[in-house]
Amino acid sequence: MKSYRKELWFNTTKRRELINITHEVQNCINESKIKEGLVLVNAMHITASVFINDDEGGLHQDYEAWLEKLAPEKPYSQYRHNGYEDNADAHLKRTIMGREVVCAITEGKLDFGPWERIFYGEFDGKRAKRVLVKIIGE
Ligand code: ZN
Repeated sequence: MKSYRKELWFNTTKRRELINITHEVQNCINESKIKEGLVLVNAMHITASVFINDDEGGLHQDYEAWLEKLAPEKPYSQYRHNGYEDNADAHLKRTIMGREVVCAITEGKLDFGPWERIFYGEFDGKRAKRVLVKIIGE
């Protein structure tokens, strides 16, 4: 069995962003030379997510509105976590959107349904943050 590890770095210009990282994950699979196996992709920070969904702008606005209803960013004072920080909402958003995805690799490609794409969900950005890509297989 082969294994491969890589960190992808992100530094968003906005506090919240959804970034399609499908191509970067496929590049990792290509680099690993693994043809059959599994790829794990996880955010290495507790205010960011990795998830799979549609790359459709309307849906991304719906995510923003929905997450703001569930865990509004402001007022910061509504959260007990916001003593030294102002990112309680980002921790909550990350929990809802998930930490990681695991995807099948078949014949060297992500074995996806037609509309599945991998996203990095940033909820407390404007600083360098990492995503781990771990691939096992042969
Ligand atoms: Zn925090």
